[in-house]
Amino acid sequence: MMLRPYFVAESAAMASIPPGIVENGAECTPRTILSNPGFLKLELMRRGIRVEQDCLDPAAFAPQGSRASTGGLSAHARNMFGNATDVDLILPEGTWVTAPLSNHFTHPSPYLLRRNDSGCWLHWDPPFGQQAEVIPPVCVQVVPPAAFYTRTTSTGLPLARLGTVHGSYLALSPIAQCSFVGTDDQCHFCSLTTKATDELVAVDDILEAIRIVRDTTKIDMVYLSVGHLSGSDGGVRALEPYIRAIKKHFDILVAMDALPPEHNAWIDRTYAMGVDSLSYNLEIFDPWRFDQICPGPSRRIGRQRFLDALEYAATVLPAGAVICHLIVGLESPESTCNGIDALLTRKVMPVLPIFRPFRGRDMRETDEAIELETQQIFDLYGYLYKKVRQHKLPMSWVQNISVVTTPAEGRFFVGAKRPGLLQRLVGGERRPSVMLSDWRRALRVKEVDDSLKSSGL
Ligand code: SF4
Repeated sequence: MMLRPYFVAESAAMASIPPGIVENGAECTPRTILSNPGFLKLELMRRGIRVEQDCLDPAAFAPQGSRASTGGLSAHARNMFGNATDVDLILPEGTWVTAPLSNHFTHPSPYLLRRNDSGCWLHWDPPFGQQAEVIPPVCVQVVPPAAFYTRTTSTGLPLARLGTVHGSYLALSPIAQCSFVGTDDQCHFCSLTTKATDELVAVDDILEAIRIVRDTTKIDMVYLSVGHLSGSDGGVRALEPYIRAIKKHFDILVAMDALPPEHNAWIDRTYAMGVDSLSYNLEIFDPWRFDQICPGPSRRIGRQRFLDALEYAATVLPAGAVICHLIVGLESPESTCNGIDALLTRKVMPVLPIFRPFRGRDMRETDEAIELETQQIFDLYGYLYKKVRQHKLPMSWVQNISVVTTPAEGRFFVGAKRPGLLQRLVGGERRPSVMLSDWRRALRVKEVDDSLKSSGL
């Protein structure tokens, strides 16, 4: 189940979080949204932005890396997910967001990006004369795309085809394959096409891509994803050469997003080969909707196997490093809350991407996407934050990501302040250390070896 961001349409309520489930739920008005980086990030991911013509003029920005960008708007936008075009911004409090440029999915976005001599400003400026009051704009930083996007490997492979940079991590798909794609088993929100599944990237190309990114952009994690492949290993066997090579050549954390293997011994092996953080993304907690929307994973793997594999993985990997996505907008908020509880009970970190349509894959047209009110969505992230704190699960493994509201950013939805440095250090919110992560793995080697031997892997 590959990482991708999502979008929820703005509409009347169809479902609600049980009363009293969220305390201190903040009211969402245009004024409060613009003054709260968490609210604003979510809104920008959902509704996109409009930009004034000269706003993203490359002459106004120093591009990251050594290569100058050219081409006006396109110089700061890129095809980031499927067929969407996005721009990266940094909001107040260092909050990164990837915002779709207003198009037929987000149109008409009420958020308008303007530039003047003092910088870039995000305005509440609904089109068609809907504005009832003037609200002070918020200053934002436009992030030029990494030089990575304009480069090729020495074998001529454009790096933009290999992956994307999201805040502090690089997402790569060296094996863009999934046996469900192009069949009735394909997940209904998945934008992969059969054409995209034909290629296998050489390990050396992946290493070169990482080298190029690290020369120009500060990243601390490489995120590898793979879809469903034949075999009982969940795809990790195919990723193993990449993982081992990355760990050998770079001082960097490796995260992996795959489908659960049939046997837990593969989870031990996944950790042993160098994976620091692991995602088996159930995507939808409601059993019936999971079966309807994710037919391949439901039939070939089964919902219970997702939960069992996640629970086992949480006993192997560091606390907070086992992650499961639940898409907001593909099930009721109550069901998402039940999923949060079920995952946290298993010591698994829930991450809540917002459903986002792609051209040719718009689940709003088939009534499969549930339309939620802004307040309902805000309350869900507040609920997530409170529950994660309650379970004392470290939030450090999911930080500085521009395409999803992280659990730590859930603080914006309950009026909590960012903990001070000392509190972050003792409260599990400091950045994971590559060295400590490798030490921990080394200490478990004997245990992992014993498990592999006893299972014959
Ligand atoms: S169809 Fe395959 S690649 Fe797409 S979301 Fe489902 S499991 Fe992942």
